[in-house]
Amino acid sequence: MSARTVTQLITAQPTSDGAGVRLFRTIGSQALDSVDPFLLLDEFKSDQKTDYIAGFPDHPHRGFETVTYMLAGSMRHKDHKGNEGNLVAGSVQWMTAGRGIIHSEMPKQDDGLMWGFQLWVNLPAAEKMTAPRYQDIPPENVPETTLANGTNIRVIAGESAGLRGAVRGIVTAPLYVDVSIPSRTTCTLPVQPGHAALCYVFVGRGRFGVTDTNLGQLVAAQQLAVLSDGEELTVRAEEDAVRFLLLAARPLREPIARYGPFVMNTREEIAQAFEDFRKGTFLQ
Ligand code: MN
Repeated sequence: MSARTVTQLITAQPTSDGAGVRLFRTIGSQALDSVDPFLLLDEFKSDQKTDYIAGFPDHPHRGFETVTYMLAGSMRHKDHKGNEGNLVAGSVQWMTAGRGIIHSEMPKQDDGLMWGFQLWVNLPAAEKMTAPRYQDIPPENVPETTLANGTNIRVIAGESAGLRGAVRGIVTAPLYVDVSIPSRTTCTLPVQPGHAALCYVFVGRGRFGVTDTNLGQLVAAQQLAVLSDGEELTVRAEEDAVRFLLLAARPLREPIARYGPFVMNTREEIAQAFEDFRKGTFLQ
């Protein structure tokens, strides 16, 4: 088996988006434009209401997928078609925006901790104008297991630890798992060869990409490790436990034209998205 190692280490950059929500961004930052097919990764974590209360009022998306995974707090989602739902702690929303949605994502709380992630996953040219689709997964429907060594794994998408993820039918065949490894424990996880893969640590720290000859790269909370190709990843927690997202997917290797909430293949398609949005034909 070939072991994946860390090829790039990125520390999250504080930024803000929406109407002024404080975020920590790794993918989609100046330090790391994208990891094909992943376009953006934000962690939002604050118990200060002013950091999140303004939320993300009505805004469009076209040409990709947005994935929201909540750890704490609650967000209310509404779109132009009247779809709405609550994203509570432990839940996932995988939204295939396709040819277009206009939606808002607003906090449902006015105090306490709000903590979670938003990931953007690109769509291939052939799927960019597909019909919008939602997969809203409540916490109890996310498969979860604890291994003999105490490692806990929640499988949001893809397959891990013998479990099949809650989210299905995504064109880039993603793996999205939330992994907690107790202190002084080593865990090896399979990752599809040929797929782009990365880990984002959000609690503690650990050594990533451990091999027979390599101690692995120390990666701490709010850091992202991009991985080399290979069939598996070994992570070792030393004194501290570590909790992280392991993300992998099939790279698209297509040109990316991106502007704000639109991600297409050419500048002309971006101009068309703006024109459709301006003319009010965006949703047709
Ligand atoms: Mn959005």
